[in-house]
Amino acid sequence: MKQIPVRLGKRSYRITIGRGALNSLPAVLNKSFPSKKNIVLTDRTVGRLYRAEITKKLGKLSWIEIPPGERHKNLKTVEAIFRKMVAEGNRKTGLIALGGGVVGDVGGFVAATFMRGIPYIQVPTTLLAQVDSSVGGKTGVDLPEGKNLVGAFYQPRAVVIDTRFLATLPRREFLCGLAEVVKYGVLWDERFFSFIEKNVGKILSLNHNVLESLIARSCAIKAEIVSKDEKELALRSLLNLGHTMGHAIETLSGYGRIRHGEAVSRGIVYAARLSFARDLCSQNDWMRIVSLFLALGLPVKMPSYPASRYRKVIASDKKASGKKINYIGIQKIGRAVILPLTPEEITGAL
Ligand code: ADP
Ligand code: ZN
Repeated sequence: MKQIPVRLGKRSYRITIGRGALNSLPAVLNKSFPSKKNIVLTDRTVGRLYRAEITKKLGKLSWIEIPPGERHKNLKTVEAIFRKMVAEGNRKTGLIALGGGVVGDVGGFVAATFMRGIPYIQVPTTLLAQVDSSVGGKTGVDLPEGKNLVGAFYQPRAVVIDTRFLATLPRREFLCGLAEVVKYGVLWDERFFSFIEKNVGKILSLNHNVLESLIARSCAIKAEIVSKDEKELALRSLLNLGHTMGHAIETLSGYGRIRHGEAVSRGIVYAARLSFARDLCSQNDWMRIVSLFLALGLPVKMPSYPASRYRKVIASDKKASGKKINYIGIQKIGRAVILPLTPEEITGAL
């Protein structure tokens, strides 16, 4: 079992990671929540798989289940949850968000706003949520006009990550989480990147010790970046490595067809290629990144839309400030840099 502290002053909390970390849930609830009357929020798929086991550990709790999928990450779902919570809870009720990124984002947003804020903990069940969305306190929902347009920064009281959840996760979802894991190595930690290279086989066969290290280091890197820069100024934007092109790929292919992680692996490879083309990183580093993604079974080739279509999407991205965009490039594996570039320059290596 590993513990990662997230240092945010009074709002500091701990992430507990390991095989069987769920066993620590009763103690975590006792410490985190003022009342015994708490509510689990999950989606139907995760509820079907884990409700019996969790009820056995925590005793009888109120459960709220939402339909699975990003499609339901919206205000209608939030309203339905609020109304159930009025019936079953009060301002002392704690919320346990049990599920993937969708449940985590919706649950965090509900906790931030219900009765002006109630305590919550995250129990992420997908690799993506375990290494990315459960750390950092970003919560929110989508609007028809775009993703994550409504939300709040709101930190959980604790995060509990059990690697056993990954055994039931569809393979494709697991691989998508790995794209963000590789991202941390590329942008922050060459030794971690080497660790992933050396352990590809064990990662793909779900070796729990390796998964525990993989998740713990990913969370620690994200926590370090977030605690230095909670609200996305300079440092936190490094976490966008691979995401400018990644989001463009998701938009151009129509949301849902290419999974987020599959767009991010391509986006990171593109960032390395562009960085090499601009004499910023070595060809060897670029090739190491390509090889690692291929070994893990993640895609590396950009979909062949015309550059002009990529440019249009990138220019209309909400993160664009003026004409230049803070594109994240790579100096070498383990060191990412902010490059203010125009959409033309960003698409220059297509
Ligand atoms: P993400 O974490 O990738 O953003 P979602 O919250 O949309 O994603 O979850 C992806 C899908 O995986 C959902 O259909 C969800 O019900 C399902 N899921 C989540 N955790 C598990 C698990 N441990 N085992 C099986 N399916 C899971
Ligand atoms: Zn991402």
